[in-house]
Amino acid sequence: MDKGFLISKTEDEIREIFSSLGEKSFRTGQLKKWMYQLQPFSAMSNFSMQLREKLEQRFEMGYPEIMEKFVSKDGTIKYLLKLFDGNIVEAVVMKYSYGNTLCISTQVGCPMACRFCASGLNGLTRQMYPFELITQVLLINRALGSGREITNIVLMGTGEPLLNYDNVVYFLREIHKEEALGISYRNISLSTCGIKDNILRFADEDIPLTLCLSLHSAINSKRSMIMPVEDRIPLQEAVRAMEHYQKKTGRRIVYEYIMIGDLNIGDEDAEALWQLVKGQTAHINLIPLNGKVGNFREPTRHEIHSFLQKLKDRGLSATIRRSLGQDIEGACGQLRARYLENEIR
Ligand code: SF4
Repeated sequence: MDKGFLISKTEDEIREIFSSLGEKSFRTGQLKKWMYQLQPFSAMSNFSMQLREKLEQRFEMGYPEIMEKFVSKDGTIKYLLKLFDGNIVEAVVMKYSYGNTLCISTQVGCPMACRFCASGLNGLTRQMYPFELITQVLLINRALGSGREITNIVLMGTGEPLLNYDNVVYFLREIHKEEALGISYRNISLSTCGIKDNILRFADEDIPLTLCLSLHSAINSKRSMIMPVEDRIPLQEAVRAMEHYQKKTGRRIVYEYIMIGDLNIGDEDAEALWQLVKGQTAHINLIPLNGKVGNFREPTRHEIHSFLQKLKDRGLSATIRRSLGQDIEGACGQLRARYLENEIR
């Protein structure tokens, strides 16, 4: 009989496994503590030898493993993590003066097919499991040192987090707990393409993190050219859902905006952006496209600063970011332009 992998089970499923072995449900909490230390069955000293053997006969733990590590000259580290089924995901550590930010993936592959992103090219392979999400963070935390090395987490790697909703919400609640990493929700950012119904649902979860909407254009026809999600969920609906989240949590909305030459950085784009977000407690992260991606060209330095000025002239809060880890293709999921950010002004 093939062994299963405990890492792919939910907490409820693990409880059922213990129940089927005639064990009480508190064993689940004990197991989770061992998992959060990335320990094998053999180290689980508060389990009887008999119980450990029974578990070992049926399961492997299946923790993620670091397959490769690339270090950029700017200090950014990209890890390739091998999952229990052989799939590979990336995680990237960015070093800032205030601590280490870890960018993680939430799905293997991605169904969203954004045109500027390599991660969506082959569609969705599978969801990442809750304990896989948690242990990837703990694994990298351990690789960085012996303490709480990771201070911030961004769910901005491969995948649309709100389409792996239950697993991501479980992950957020757990990683926030002291027995995992005790990360404050204020130090977590989640980026979504604007899955409206799940943003509204998320607003009721009492998880006040920084929610970021991948906007990239405030003009429906242009956004549709680069983000197929626009045809199903128009940006105005996504923005209304973001406003609802902001009202429920008090957290500032963040809009992410990849600047693409000849596409979304003209006068009409600035005006549409202002019309869309005026009056909101919001910030716009401008992320210049890095290099040529498909038919898209990176903006010139003049274009970048000119677009920023157009937004500032309209009273919008906006900053330009630059990519970190370019020499190791550090941007999560090989995105050339997103997320690995370092404010430059
Ligand atoms: S940008 Fe994000 S949501 Fe879009 S295809 Fe890439 S990984 Fe998926």
